[in-house]
Parts: sequence; C-alpha cells; structure tokens
Amino acid sequence: MALTKTVAGIAAGTLLTASTAFAQTYPERQITMVVPFSAGGPTDTVGRLIAEKMSADLGQQIIVENVGGAGGTLGAGNVAAAEADGYTILLHHIGMATSATLYRNLAYNPLEAFDYVGLVTEVPMTIVARKDLEPADFASLVTYVKENADTITMANAGIGAASHLCGMLFMQALEAPIVTVPYKGTGPAMTELLGGQIDIMCDQTTNTTEQIKGGTIKAYAVTSPARLDIFPDLPTVSEGGFPGLEVSVWHGLYAPKGTPAEVTARLSQSLQTALADPEIAAKLGELGTAPSPAADATPDALKAKLEAEIARWKPIIETAGVYAD
Ligand code: ASP
Repeated sequence: MALTKTVAGIAAGTLLTASTAFAQTYPERQITMVVPFSAGGPTDTVGRLIAEKMSADLGQQIIVENVGGAGGTLGAGNVAAAEADGYTILLHHIGMATSATLYRNLAYNPLEAFDYVGLVTEVPMTIVARKDLEPADFASLVTYVKENADTITMANAGIGAASHLCGMLFMQALEAPIVTVPYKGTGPAMTELLGGQIDIMCDQTTNTTEQIKGGTIKAYAVTSPARLDIFPDLPTVSEGGFPGLEVSVWHGLYAPKGTPAEVTARLSQSLQTALADPEIAAKLGELGTAPSPAADATPDALKAKLEAEIARWKPIIETAGVYAD
C-alpha cells in the first residue's frame, strides 16, 4: 500500500512537473479559437477582436475557425473532443447554456466538457426587419406579426442560438408561431435580410449596429433593460410591453476539459489584458456594449455564470416544450 502510494506520488509529481514545464513554455505555436457560428456574424466579431489582442499578448497567433451549424453545438462539440493542450479554445455565448436543455441528445455535457477561461462581454439584441417591412414602430410590428404570422419569416442561427432564443420568446409573447429559417450564423442571415429574402430577425448589436445606423434595415426595439446610448430613439422591449423579451448575450471563453490549470490561467490573464485594451472598449462601445470587467474574465466567474444560466433557462425552455430533437 505504502509502496503503491509512493509510486503514485512520484507519478503525480512527475506529471505536475511536466505540466508546469509545459505551462511555462506555453504557447509555443498557433492557437485555434473556434467560433461556433459563421464568419462575419456577431460572435465572430467579438472572437476576432479578442483573438487579435490576445495574440499580441501571448506572442503567438490565435486564428479563428468558424464552425457554424446546429445553433453552435457543432463547434462546441468539436472543442469538447479536441486535445486539452491549450491550442484549441472556444468562444461561445449564451447558447452554451440554452443548448444544455434544448438538445436532449447532445454529444457533450456543457457543464462537464470544458474548462473555463473567463467571461468576455455581454451584448444586447435588437429586433430588426428588412428595410421595407410595413410597420413603422414596435407596437405596429406586434400587430403586424400577429396578423401575418403564417407568412412572415424570421431568421435565426439554429436551435440554441441567441437569435433562436429571442425569437422563441418573441413568438411566445405574441402568441404567434412564425416560420423560422435557420442559418449557420446571423452573418449570412443578415445578408438575406438586406436582400429582402427574410422579414425579421433578433440579433446582437455587434451585427446590427452598422446596418441600423446606415438605414439598410429597420430596427424596432432593444432587448436591454435600458435604452442604449448608440440608439437613444429605440425603445426597450419592456417599454413596448414585453419585459419577458429582455435578453443579454453573454460570451465566454472555454478550453477542453483537462487543459492544464496553468494554461487556462495564462489564457485568462491574456483575456484580461485584451479586455483592458482601450481599443477593445472603444470598438465594443461603438457596437452598444463593453468588455467584461477583469474580475469576470476568470474561470470561476464563467463557471458560475454558466451554472446559473443553465438553471435559469431550463424551466423556461421546458415550459415552452421546444426541443432540437
Ligand atoms: N447571433 C447569432 C446567434 O443567434 C450567432 C452568430 O452568428 O454569431 O446566436
């Protein structure tokens, strides 16, 4: 017994030394950041912003790989199955929490399959439409959607995506089962909204701000509790009578389960450095949001957020009875 313990102790010591040595030299090569939605969309925008700053801090390039599909679960699944060596990381959003309930046959357990790096940002959503959709304001949109529920089309980025979640709440609130069209991300969905092939969408300000300001799409409401400085004339969903539509799309950075703690600590430190960069605050500010504070860009804060959000959305989704399978 004593001998076994000693052998185990030596083995553990060797492992610890090896992992510490590994962490001291980390990163030695390029890192892949998986974004589980299409390029050009809002999650991609946030991912590329922090990847650039973290690359500078880590002294190695972080390249963004877009793996869209199935509401973000394909990309997340790839990272869950990847080598836990710090060279594959995942930038996901609130969908990590909602997919835990929406997908009953998920190949990975969102709470067990990842190690945590930290929270990145929280982004409000906007309810937008193609430029020539009839209603002029949110109240008329509500009436219009109720009257035309069977012909209106609403884009989303697949079941579990933030756009799906917001759309689901929208349909429940209005008691209007609209036809939904899934894309691999709201980047391509925006292209179709601009082209008039789709009618409405609920999407992060990180994707809609430029188009709203340019007048190429119509905006009806923001899903934040208060109006946004960038859109002072845009009412909140609560002002429009639908407080249940408030959604905040929090983003987190993850690594596959089993990544050495020193490596996630290094990534977390690098994330904090990136988020403290005034350029990031300025860019996110222009898009109606802000970087998470350093205290939240930590493994513990992200873990606590994910646990709380899975618990928060589970009963809402179960009551709605909408599942991906
Ligand atoms: N905004 C998308 C969503 O609905 C994702 C994306 O394309 O970034 O979750």
